[in-house]
Amino acid sequence: MWNVFLTTGHIVNIGHDIFKENRKLAGKNREKLAAANIFSVNIMGAIGSGKTTLIEEVVKALGRKYKIAVIAGDVIADMDAARFEKLGVKTIPANTGKECHLDAHLVNHCLKTNDLDGYDLLIIENVGNLICPADFDLGEDMKIVIVSVSEGDDIVLKHPVIFKTSDMAVINKVDIAAAVDVDPQTMIRDVTSLNPNIPILLTSKKQEETLKEWTSALENAMLEKKERASNQKSNQQQ
Ligand code: MG
Repeated sequence: MWNVFLTTGHIVNIGHDIFKENRKLAGKNREKLAAANIFSVNIMGAIGSGKTTLIEEVVKALGRKYKIAVIAGDVIADMDAARFEKLGVKTIPANTGKECHLDAHLVNHCLKTNDLDGYDLLIIENVGNLICPADFDLGEDMKIVIVSVSEGDDIVLKHPVIFKTSDMAVINKVDIAAAVDVDPQTMIRDVTSLNPNIPILLTSKKQEETLKEWTSALENAMLEKKERASNQKSNQQQ
């Protein structure tokens, strides 16, 4: 039994542990995606950090080689979904209504109502913020946090959980770092202090080589996962 203590002094019994429920459904999503051999990434970051733009770059760079689907998480808007659809990629809009994050239940619904058989990569753009998405496992293979230099160089230390629990960090819009008086090296140092082994990429829409690094990093992570899965399968068959 779970009780929520309100500042008014009242106690409300919410009846179940939402995190436990979420973990259970995330496990189901993970099994379903693994069985279909789909690599999935959860892209998290604040509004304006450049999540949609960096996902568009992945679709442009890898969309001919692999079958990609995108879940476009948003509170109510569908602008991001429209941007993905314009690229001709399979797009699944996921509006949370008023919630500040996607959860495993919503992703489970997306997986149930869309046939993703034969797809290689599922990119999930989470709702724009750096706090709530960190608490909800979606069943993804990889969590990526994107932060823009325009958010200020204290942004990393203000949001330790998301940097501690992500598998990759991207510091975006580095071309404007000097203009906003931020040193990306400070941000790198802060990320490393929270999560010493996390790979960190510096990216900018204006610097093509950084976009290549970004899209190759995702492709490599996907291929590694697929190779591990196929080795596991052949070991089981022996
Ligand atoms: Mg977006």
